[in-house]
Amino acid sequence: MRKGEFTGVTRRVTGLDPLADDAGIPPPLPALGDVPPEEFARHAHALVDWMARYLADPERWPVLPDVRPGDVLARLPESPPADGEPLRRILDDVERVIVPGLTHWNHPGFFAWFANSSSAPAILGEMLAATLNVNAMLWKSAPAATELELRTVDWLRQLLGMGDGWSGHINDTASISTMLALAAAREAHPELEIRERGMAGRTDLPALRVYASTLAHSSVDKSVITLGLGQRNLVKIGVDDKFRMRPDLLEAAMRADVAAGHRPIAVVATVGTTGVASIDPVREIAELCARHGAWLHVDGAYGGMAAVVPEMRHVLDGVEMADSLVVNPHKWLFTPVDCSVLLTRRPDVLMRAFSLVPEYLRTAEQDSAVNLMDYGVQLGRRFRSLKLWMVMRAFGADGLAARLRDQIAMAGEFADMVRAEPGWKVVAPVHFSLVCFRWAPDDIDASERDAINRSIMDRVNASGRVFLSHAVVDGAFTLRLAIGNMRTTREHVAEAWGLLREAAGSAR
Ligand code: PLP
Repeated sequence: MRKGEFTGVTRRVTGLDPLADDAGIPPPLPALGDVPPEEFARHAHALVDWMARYLADPERWPVLPDVRPGDVLARLPESPPADGEPLRRILDDVERVIVPGLTHWNHPGFFAWFANSSSAPAILGEMLAATLNVNAMLWKSAPAATELELRTVDWLRQLLGMGDGWSGHINDTASISTMLALAAAREAHPELEIRERGMAGRTDLPALRVYASTLAHSSVDKSVITLGLGQRNLVKIGVDDKFRMRPDLLEAAMRADVAAGHRPIAVVATVGTTGVASIDPVREIAELCARHGAWLHVDGAYGGMAAVVPEMRHVLDGVEMADSLVVNPHKWLFTPVDCSVLLTRRPDVLMRAFSLVPEYLRTAEQDSAVNLMDYGVQLGRRFRSLKLWMVMRAFGADGLAARLRDQIAMAGEFADMVRAEPGWKVVAPVHFSLVCFRWAPDDIDASERDAINRSIMDRVNASGRVFLSHAVVDGAFTLRLAIGNMRTTREHVAEAWGLLREAAGSAR
């Protein structure tokens, strides 16, 4: 990292130092109002040059920073400045203090969790959204942002190959999308009067039960906690040898609950579980939900996005029978955080759960237009559709499919390399762009394998070239290689494999 890069880059481009006057002194800010437009433009141009270089060469920084907790904090002043500082100095500090202290999600060696990268069209969308600063809470507060969100979400529905009858909106995260879906599931039982009377102190309510597999994301637990349903009323259903929720166990659990006087209100099925990216049998689960009057929410935060690839549409088989689906463009559609799309076939129920219009927000278009605040907790809403719309337009349906297809192919090739190497094992089916694997040679005692695989991961991650994360699969420490970054190539995957083999060799 070289100090002064913001200015240096621009100097090369324009031959000038655009951030200072002739004497090298930045002009003083006016006493009131914003930075003058000309100065903003100079900084913005320099910054965009820096951003372009960053994206062109994201490997300049190690994927994992060499910092310990508190290191960055110690370099930040404890109190804000009384007098404004020149933008140039602030941006220099971003380079000097912030960027080297970041885990670089845009680094092509980022293979942890579910890898994702930003893309140029989405970045432009974010810049524009901050510039326009509209708040898409009501149609009136942002007519075009509201209608673009509706259109963009519908484009995504079409890209996923889903039929008519679904509509949706954009949230920050899948955690919130799932919580909203479960709130709607509860509101689908209006006779319980939970919206009006709450749940606390009531003896007339049955336990309201939610079901998800043992591999469902922790956001399901957080949702039931937040909604006051109680974590004990989230029933975790076991999985089969391919890590899929077992419908026979689900059915038994629902029946037992009904017999005990409980009420099954929702099942969360996952398409692409966090640990191993397994796919729950949505169709069979949907049939059980229909039988018990339970809402089916599908968490396709990562895996659902694969349906953008026409030959991968089967991953959403049965979702047409579900009540809601969450997919995250910020996980696997080259859109920077935050962008999570909640689709539902029952927007009326979602609206019943959340619509509340105080007098000051009443408008003449109250009933004739969509007011997106009606579909969730939050009032103020970022203009998130802009970046997603720009991604869809800039890459097109075929371009997006081609990119995801290539990542799925890369993961398949990596899995083949692992399988072909003695001592290494792929431990879960590879449906998407995630490979779960471990080093488990027969001559190494099973009791030592967890520690060895952890040390392989730590060693590889210390290289600064790649970053892998782990899962515990069937009780064993497992390495995960997740491809989702649009700058990742086969060379990066090969490099990761080389580092893994080397680390395993020296772990003996
Ligand atoms: N669902 C699944 C399957 C996930 O893997 C994750 C995060 O990794 C989430 C939900 C939560 O996503 P978010 O960070 O958007 O809340």
